[in-house]
Amino acid sequence: MSTIETTLKSDKQKKANQYIEKIYNATEQRNPHESEFLQAVKEIVDSLAPVLAHHPQYMDSGILERLLEPEKSISFRVPWVDDQGKVQVNRGYRVQFNSALGPYKGGLRFHPSVNESIVKFLGFEQIFKNSLTGQPIGGGKGGSDFDPKDKSDMEVMRFCQSFMTELYKHIGPETDVPAGDVGVNAREIGYMFGQYKKMRGAFEAGVLTGKGLQYGGSLARTEATGYGLVYFVREMLEDKGFDFNGKTVIVSGSGNVSIYAMEKAAEYGAKVVACSDSDGCIYDENGIDLATIKELKETGDDRVSAYTDKHPNAQYLEDCSNIWSIPCDIALPCATQNEIDEETAKTLIDNGVKVVGEGANMPSTTEAVDLFLDSDILFAPAKAANAGGVAVSSLEMSQNSSKLMWTFEDVDEKLKEIMKNIYQNSIQAASDYGTPGNLVSGANIAGFIKVADAMNAQGII
Ligand code: GLU
Repeated sequence: MSTIETTLKSDKQKKANQYIEKIYNATEQRNPHESEFLQAVKEIVDSLAPVLAHHPQYMDSGILERLLEPEKSISFRVPWVDDQGKVQVNRGYRVQFNSALGPYKGGLRFHPSVNESIVKFLGFEQIFKNSLTGQPIGGGKGGSDFDPKDKSDMEVMRFCQSFMTELYKHIGPETDVPAGDVGVNAREIGYMFGQYKKMRGAFEAGVLTGKGLQYGGSLARTEATGYGLVYFVREMLEDKGFDFNGKTVIVSGSGNVSIYAMEKAAEYGAKVVACSDSDGCIYDENGIDLATIKELKETGDDRVSAYTDKHPNAQYLEDCSNIWSIPCDIALPCATQNEIDEETAKTLIDNGVKVVGEGANMPSTTEAVDLFLDSDILFAPAKAANAGGVAVSSLEMSQNSSKLMWTFEDVDEKLKEIMKNIYQNSIQAASDYGTPGNLVSGANIAGFIKVADAMNAQGII
């Protein structure tokens, strides 16, 4: 490159960097208390510096200014009556972040930690994740600070009905299609679907995904996020000439994502030795017996500590963060946001971890991600690695609109293909924009470009 070219290039880069700093500071000022949202924004905008330097048209048309502000955001009161006849009030949210690629799509989270910042970070990440799937879906997210964990079945039903009595006005198969997330599984989706149908006076199967198989659900949706994570990590390993066979794996969490990540990793010959819940973790050096976990978690509502009743040789460690002190080759954080901080990342690296694949949304703090990227481990970021769930949700929407039901094998094959494409597109974007091998920036860039081009094509709206 000539001196002039180098100067021009660095001028463009400088301009892009200044623009990013300005955009980020403005976002911080506008959303001062939303730490999780700001964390997600920072990661994305920092990754985009080389893209903006190459394509200044994205700055000219205010793509980032528009992307960072949800198209629409609602919060609403959710009153319901508990089993003692007492009135309870929770807060409901739906953030409709971006519809450049299709109807808003993203889950509903019911957990006491849910607030505006959490819903916005999840909705914001969903835009890029959904774009990466290659499916025609925009990004959104919602939820409530309601905790289904200590509630009776009838209380959960009354809550879901009240929640949907407001939400139904804002969603629809061509508008916004919610699904599950933490605390929202087939039971909650069923109660919400029933209420939507009643309020709308029509059976619109495509309004929610993650439905039961009797009324429009898709085979392999339950398994999709966990399986998809393992398919993604397998792609990453194969690229370097490795596989799961004989590797020691730990998977935090014990919900839907964790269970099916453990199942697929074990099927590929890995030894999964630990999983957790919010109270503690179990370590079974012979390999976790998944049937016991499924029995505890899927049929009952038990804690993982009960695992040792059936497997006395396994160890139960109080405090779920202890799971990260167990040495492993592959770590799959599948519990919740920011479960791996800098200290934990250090411990994992010191203990010889070779791969970290994120199944939960944003499970690693910014500092932890930086450490992973600076070390020589393979790091699969959530937006790419856990996109299998929403990808199969989109396949569920396709089945609903064509009134067909595909076989498990059909859906699973499509899921594998989607995860492979996400890996390839992300690794390609990383190398195209000067960060070879960095899947964080690769996924952010690949996800962004498609949305930005669609937004530009649709004018300033
Ligand atoms: N909650 C899941 C996610 O974080 C799935 C969303 C969906 O299926 O719409 O991607």
